[in-house]
Amino acid sequence: MLAEVAALGAEAQAEAAGLGLRVEGRVLAVPGVVPHAGQGLIEHAPNLGWHAVRPADHWPDPGTVPVPENEANLGALAEYWQAEHGAETFVHISAEAGIGAALIVDGQLFRGSRGSRGFAGELGHIPVDPEGVPCPCGARGCLEQYAGEAAVLREAGLAAAGDPVARLAERAAAGDQATLRALERAGRALGLALVSAVNLIDPDSLVLGGAYAELAEWLLPAVRAELAARVRARPWPPEALRCSVLGRRGALLGAALLTTRQIIADPTRLPVD
Ligand SMILES: [Zn+2]
Repeated sequence: MLAEVAALGAEAQAEAAGLGLRVEGRVLAVPGVVPHAGQGLIEHAPNLGWHAVRPADHWPDPGTVPVPENEANLGALAEYWQAEHGAETFVHISAEAGIGAALIVDGQLFRGSRGSRGFAGELGHIPVDPEGVPCPCGARGCLEQYAGEAAVLREAGLAAAGDPVARLAERAAAGDQATLRALERAGRALGLALVSAVNLIDPDSLVLGGAYAELAEWLLPAVRAELAARVRARPWPPEALRCSVLGRRGALLGAALLTTRQIIADPTRLPVD
């Protein structure tokens, strides 16, 4: 798979060159654990079947190796830098193949302890039913088994082909009962997991990004009901649960902004010519 990603990267690079642009940074958004000081290591990306993968070891051109970063972190950073909602401490939840979350605390991305393995925000593996469905992570009843893309598709009786999120939205809008039930169940599970996050962190807001933003209309009622019933601070303000306006572009924008902000912070990174 990394060879395909590298080919896409080479294509984008050629396109940029065609426009007279020079590529100054490359970031690989990964649905997995990227340790703090991992030197380009992706420790674990279960939905891709990757364990201890270093893109540099598989990249055809050593001059264009990207820096891996967790896609949920990138989505949260984009949300903080781009969406002008004024929240300084929030949890950004994104759903693509898996479910990830990232914490922005006082305007900074929270990565867990300095010596940690970088798995802060692994919301997808918060248990919502201790005796529930087995998860590939080895535990049971993880959120991802109820509100992850594969679980929702399975519950709705849909195959994972084409653009599954668009198809789910289409079916839900048409009133398909199985799809509506699957999204309601996903919303309830997501709400339960978020209750734990809110009671622990007391953030300004919760932001649903990625595919969740596109399915919000059908997910939000159940998420809101769980929050209203279980969050310690009552009433939980419904406007504190929002959808990202960036949708599925969040991680991509985050990667671009991360690079440009690093250059602005230290212009000496740029070669002189
Ligand atoms: Zn799990």
